[in-house]
Amino acid sequence: MSTNIEFLHADQIGGCVTLISTDTTKICIEFGENLPGSKHKEALEVEGLTSVEVQYDAVFFTHYHGDHIGRFNKILPGIPLYMSQMCRYALLNIYHALAKHDARYKKQIEILEDKTRNHVLWPQQAVQVGDIKVTPYTIDHSAEAAMMFLIETPDKRILHMGDFRTHGFMGNKLKKLLLHYVFGLQLRYKPVDILITEGTNMTREEGELLTEDELFTQACALMREYKLVFCICSSTNFIRLRNFYRAARAAHKVVLASGYMLKQVQSYYHYKLDLYAYLNNCKQDREFRLSGMYSLLLDKEALQDKLAYKLQEKKLRERGALIFLSGTQAAEKLQRLVAQYSDLQPLVIYSQWSGYIKDKKAEYYNAELAEACAACNTVQLHTSGHASKEVVEEIIRLVNSREYVAIIHSEQAEIRYRQY
Ligand SMILES: [Zn+2]
Repeated sequence: MSTNIEFLHADQIGGCVTLISTDTTKICIEFGENLPGSKHKEALEVEGLTSVEVQYDAVFFTHYHGDHIGRFNKILPGIPLYMSQMCRYALLNIYHALAKHDARYKKQIEILEDKTRNHVLWPQQAVQVGDIKVTPYTIDHSAEAAMMFLIETPDKRILHMGDFRTHGFMGNKLKKLLLHYVFGLQLRYKPVDILITEGTNMTREEGELLTEDELFTQACALMREYKLVFCICSSTNFIRLRNFYRAARAAHKVVLASGYMLKQVQSYYHYKLDLYAYLNNCKQDREFRLSGMYSLLLDKEALQDKLAYKLQEKKLRERGALIFLSGTQAAEKLQRLVAQYSDLQPLVIYSQWSGYIKDKKAEYYNAELAEACAACNTVQLHTSGHASKEVVEEIIRLVNSREYVAIIHSEQAEIRYRQY
């Protein structure tokens, strides 16, 4: 009896897949898109998972980022999928928005809504698939409810870290979590045989990483200083959205975002209520209302004569506003709104990875957004969703896996065998 592990597209950031099999059971961890600029251009096909007859018993997803889950619709229909409730909510919002323009995305909605196939993962609730047991643990990342998995087969204990960092709000809990739950120090020491860790920042020069706490403090100061603030940010980086929302509310500003982004933020708070109900074993029947955050009407020329538009403009001029912008239309909206309210001398906070507006030759470079930001009073306020190289090395030492460490999700992917 032996466990077999296979890594596919591990030598790039995003789109990595891990296949784990025993004599009787096969599972897959993640099935996402290659990111723009990735080494591998071809989309992965795996026999028994995406083609021919079903051979896999389950697919587990650590979080909702597209490079981890974006191709779940390619998985053969008979294979069960496991993801967090937050992941399901975020994806449903994304695909409902996409399906408005392209009916083909309805397939993803059908899969996500099919509760016989799509199962919810809750923190620390183990799932047994054949002779493989998977226990998810919440981990800190720029995706809410991201998870790492402890995977136990008859002969191996494997720890798959997913994407993680330690400089977010929950980051300092990682070591305790590993010590108490993974190694089981309180009861009996149970070593990890194989550690699978992400290594995004093994090659990226990120410098000193700010904590989300530090970002929040800086955001509060900027919200007090500037009447009108635009924030360019991912619509699913909920910790960032929540903090900037709180910073703006503390400065008595109104907060405006697209209807889609508003829905995503509402889903985040809805998930928090679901989680509370799950952890306390009670029914979730509370309604959630997001105060002071509204759908952005000022970007819609057709509405200019309408009362709601005028009211929003009045509030913006009286109290000041934080306007979140994201996605493909961010640059165009930013240019238009900054010109419209130039008398308020707005500030732009760029709160996502700097590569998109700096790496001119890269495939992921967004020239339009780079130009729009350069033409405004723009500050960068962002921190990585991934652990620094030093932290990854520290976790490798702490876990001290008995057989090997696989560094995946990295341009410098490698297998480090233990030296006895
Ligand atoms: Zn991620």
